[in-house]
Amino acid sequence: MTTLRIENLHVAVSGKEILKGVNLTVKTGEMHAIMGPNGTGKSTLSQTIMGHPAYEITAGHIYLDAQDLSDLPVDARARAGLFLAMQYPSEIQGVTNAEFMLAAINARRPEDQQMGIMAFIEQLDEKREFLGMTEEMADRYLNAGFSGGEKKRNEILQMMMIQPKIAILDEIDSGLDIDALKVVSRGVNHMRSKDFGTLMITHYQRLLDYIVPDYVHVMMGGKIVKTGDAALAQKLEAEGYAGLRDELGLDI
Ligand code: ADP
Ligand code: MG
Ligand code: MG
Repeated sequence: MTTLRIENLHVAVSGKEILKGVNLTVKTGEMHAIMGPNGTGKSTLSQTIMGHPAYEITAGHIYLDAQDLSDLPVDARARAGLFLAMQYPSEIQGVTNAEFMLAAINARRPEDQQMGIMAFIEQLDEKREFLGMTEEMADRYLNAGFSGGEKKRNEILQMMMIQPKIAILDEIDSGLDIDALKVVSRGVNHMRSKDFGTLMITHYQRLLDYIVPDYVHVMMGGKIVKTGDAALAQKLEAEGYAGLRDELGLDI
């Protein structure tokens, strides 16, 4: 089992405190969702877990099992088993999607267990078809010319190929029509196992109809203010964040 443990995490961006004491534990075998209004720090949390240099940890810790991740660069965190599907995946010219994925897989493997090109293509074809993606998409430059929905699908393809221990999916549902949402959800549900944990970030309850989480956390004002099960998402959908704010007597 692998455990991602976030303790009293405070994070500043450009000198402004955004996260104000986040506590959260995600284990392999568990599916967690974080919901929360816009601008509350959800993407800040995901970028900080992955090690984006713009996000400064001013207090607290992030551990993967016994290892403190705070001083590790992004690539070392990826090798340790973390994966981030970004809210806004970037386009990179000069590297194809397939090249990127094979390099990412082999960077995580020891020298004597590198994945060969034939095994890679076999797996890629299988997973690509599962996600209804064309062969041509794998040969394009990373995300180049992809629509918003195709980028999200491509993030899921990467996740399925790379097989991380813990995946953070930042608004994987944004900009998706209902068919694409179903495909993306199928990919995430396919990953469910005792060796895989996920932290899904979303504005909308709709995603959680398709990927039913074990835990739902609500983030407001840079903190997790409430944790429950999937029923909490339904309640939020009905009452809105304002309802919860009133219930908890929050002034944020
Ligand atoms: P959410 O994902 O919940 O919508 P974000 O984490 O994106 O929220 O943003 C939280 C706050 O931090 C916002 O006020 C946003 O403007 C600010 N912020 C996030 N990233 C940056 C950045 N790279 N530079 C400046 N401000 C940022
Ligand atoms: Mg946002
Ligand atoms: Mg965000």
